[in-house]
Amino acid sequence: MAMLADNLFKRIIDGKISAKIIHDDDLCIAFHDIGPQAPVHVLIIPKKVIPTHDALTPEDGPLIGHLHLVAVNLAQELGLAEGYRLVINCKDRGGQTVPHLHMHLLGGRDFHWPPG
Ligand code: 5GP
Repeated sequence: MAMLADNLFKRIIDGKISAKIIHDDDLCIAFHDIGPQAPVHVLIIPKKVIPTHDALTPEDGPLIGHLHLVAVNLAQELGLAEGYRLVINCKDRGGQTVPHLHMHLLGGRDFHWPPG
């Protein structure tokens, strides 16, 4: 996972790469994943560049809370009242491929445990 300053998701935030954006506010955007793993697969990403989950600091607490509340609203809008899964992959062993913190909102099918 290369730590690129101008990473892929930053380019989406800056409008340099197109994406199917379904939410945009001062703190974050959300858009459909290009390779959906479920009928609903949305990525919620902070506009602040934070490379990985373990780079979060106490000052990011409200931002993380905001991402969760956006997920709640999007889940309602996207018809996921029966349930959904939120995933944050962290670094290589966590399966992270894009070095910009992001939350996956997955829904529209059953999910199982343990995850792969
Ligand atoms: P990660 O593996 O880092 O947790 O998740 C990265 C996600 O970004 C993957 O699910 C992948 O399909 C998605 N992705 C990668 N490139 C693009 C892109 O250019 N556009 C969109 N919309 N999603 C992307």
